[in-house]
Amino acid sequence: MFRCGAVQIRVVLLALCLSIFSPSGQAVENLGTLGAHPRWSVLEKYQETITHDDFARLIQDVYCTHGFGEGLIKIDNESALILKNRDAQSFFTLRFAKDESSRKPVPRLWRPAKSLPLTKPDKPLSGLRIALDPGHLGGKWAKMEERWFQVDETTPVTEGDLTLRASRLLAQRLQKLGAKVLFVRNSTQPITSKRPADFKELARRILIKNGVPQPRMQGEVLDPNDSEKEQTIRWQSEILFYRYSEIRQRAVLVNTKLHPDLVLCLHFNAEGWGDPKTPNLVDPNHLHLLVNGSYLKEELEFDD
Ligand SMILES: [Zn+2]
Repeated sequence: MFRCGAVQIRVVLLALCLSIFSPSGQAVENLGTLGAHPRWSVLEKYQETITHDDFARLIQDVYCTHGFGEGLIKIDNESALILKNRDAQSFFTLRFAKDESSRKPVPRLWRPAKSLPLTKPDKPLSGLRIALDPGHLGGKWAKMEERWFQVDETTPVTEGDLTLRASRLLAQRLQKLGAKVLFVRNSTQPITSKRPADFKELARRILIKNGVPQPRMQGEVLDPNDSEKEQTIRWQSEILFYRYSEIRQRAVLVNTKLHPDLVLCLHFNAEGWGDPKTPNLVDPNHLHLLVNGSYLKEELEFDD
């Protein structure tokens, strides 16, 4: 196992705070990095699909367990007012179903657990759609995405290639158990069609917004030992490509095309190796189960 993901958090979080002016030039939209403008009209399909009690319980016990900013959601007996834009003080009104029996059917892209097929003893995963998402890219992108390292003169370890190999092995085993396996990626090619050059202007704006008044481009080869590399347009535009744009495109693929019952994201992760200049492999291993919910107050403030 090797280290993944801890180093870039500070600048990435700063990037998250970038607000973008809406095309109308009126209220400022508070979008996550590369986030899409929210389509509130889609929620009209959810009118009267949930009761007051269910809504209040899910807000309190599942989705907003850390609380939320003042005025973000107001619940009364008949409806909930959900803040669309803090500057404009505009709201979406979600009307509740009067009771369980009058709930309208919920439009779903996903199958709820109770509608999954019954398991067969010899094929316990039959009928299940499982998407495999091998983390990162590997191949020629491994150095750029900072998922490349070498112990002495041995073959370099590249997380994106490891996750792809592990996913292909896992796919065979899942298929034997009856699952329908879908790959979010099955090569070292990015899913996003964007490349770092597409994000130079956005990278420059993010850096200026976060207190780097004259961000430098930096040369063709990014020096991994440059202590101020995070303040270069090059580093920012690369992370916008391989992390933000790539992950958002993978989400689009999962949500609009693959429609799996389960997504398995594979990483080789998150243990420090001590001195990064002389890395060592370490033994600890982790399993993280990610379930939708428990959003932080700061996350709930985003319009998207
Ligand atoms: Zn990783």
